[in-house]
Amino acid sequence: MMAQDKPVFERILLKLSGESLLGKSSFGINVEAAKSIATQIKDIHNLGVQIAIMIGGGNIFRGIRGTEAGMDRASADYMGLLSTVINGIALQDALEKEGVFTRHISAIEVKAVAEPFVRRRVLRHLEKNRIVIFSAGIGSPYFTTDTAAALRALEIKAQVILKATKVDGVYSADPLKDKNAKKFESIKYLDVIKKGLRVMDTTAISLCKENNLPIIVLNLKKKNNIKKAVLGYDIGTKIY
Ligand code: UDP
Repeated sequence: MMAQDKPVFERILLKLSGESLLGKSSFGINVEAAKSIATQIKDIHNLGVQIAIMIGGGNIFRGIRGTEAGMDRASADYMGLLSTVINGIALQDALEKEGVFTRHISAIEVKAVAEPFVRRRVLRHLEKNRIVIFSAGIGSPYFTTDTAAALRALEIKAQVILKATKVDGVYSADPLKDKNAKKFESIKYLDVIKKGLRVMDTTAISLCKENNLPIIVLNLKKKNNIKKAVLGYDIGTKIY
């Protein structure tokens, strides 16, 4: 892709893990971290990009933690889902402090804090340049927020999923554990699955593959990375 000073995407879906809100904290939400993410998002919003965000919940609770301790999977997953709603509220607050208009859409009913998911309404929000925050994944247990990101990205016709992580892209092994891990500039959907690379779960990758939705995996900790991706710079790893 040729980099320029104009965005190469009109509408994006940004997948933020719950961990992105951890910052220096070891649990929950760090307001500083939320602010730093919000300023980066505002930056690309100012470029005229329509933005939807899928927020994860791993900083508070993951279903797997409950099941490992003997809980029923569905109950544990619903706890995970609710933790994404908490994150959605925090992110909305941080974004509004930056002066942008937002709408928080939860896939499970929590009327006092978020709107229900109505596809046409979400499209309207985006057209009006409101940043849409999706929480509660797809609203069902046994799924991840990565799969929910893929599903919603397709429904709203986003041109790309930007998957924010804490490493620079997709590697042959976990770069935080293996010094010899090699980074891919780009990689095909099937190779991510075949090589068992744990960047997104198989359901999410399959959904993107079937519908030709590209994913760019990038490091959120490096300031301006989201902006660079939106401007067409080759950063991170492109899954296509
Ligand atoms: N979850 C779910 N259905 C969904 C999305 C999420 O049940 O559609 C639950 C699941 O328990 C998951 C938790 O919510 O562990 C938090 O989401 P995720 O682990 O995807 O968050 P992230 O890793 O992005 O922080």
